[in-house]
Amino acid sequence: MTALDLLLPSTCAGCGLRGTACCTTCLSGFGPPAPVQVPGVGPPVWTLAAYDGVARELVLGFKERGARALSAWFGALVACALMAVGPGPWTLVPAPSRRSAARSRGGDHMLRVAQAVEIASVAPVLRLSSGVVDSVGLTAGARRRNLAGRVEVCGRPPPGTTVLLDDVITTGATAAACVRALRGAGVRTHGVVVLTSARPHQPGE
Ligand SMILES: [Zn+2]
Repeated sequence: MTALDLLLPSTCAGCGLRGTACCTTCLSGFGPPAPVQVPGVGPPVWTLAAYDGVARELVLGFKERGARALSAWFGALVACALMAVGPGPWTLVPAPSRRSAARSRGGDHMLRVAQAVEIASVAPVLRLSSGVVDSVGLTAGARRRNLAGRVEVCGRPPPGTTVLLDDVITTGATAAACVRALRGAGVRTHGVVVLTSARPHQPGE
């Protein structure tokens, strides 16, 4: 928080309501963890919302528009989701951002969410090598190729339930590449928790 944050009244990153970083109406766009079918990832995936409407606005506000105070709200939502993955102790492994993207956002946004989850430890052991380009607009195959062999593991999470954490799952290419890289380093990922899912709704699956 900067001095400016203290002087300016905050507004809801979802709807613009004054006086809070996230109003209760917008927060109710997120729910308990719901399973998402994402072929090729491996461990089960849970999402807290669909990537549309106000949930999408809040994620974009946090990620791209500097609504940093949302990390506390997202952290609380993620904490509530961890029991779905397995018993504690939990370790959160944030999905890595491209270094240039993290720089322009003033830090790694998913690391900030992970650090706001008070009941879990955080192991920021994944990094993207410099050849990775922005995946927006890439096809599923191009996303996979973009990440192939470019997720580096630099460390080991402590024993317990290891949970990969990301903001949005689309094709699953990022989650799959992270899980594969961890497996290659001898680390089992027990589950993936994402704030939002951009995958089509698949009733009954
Ligand atoms: Zn709102």
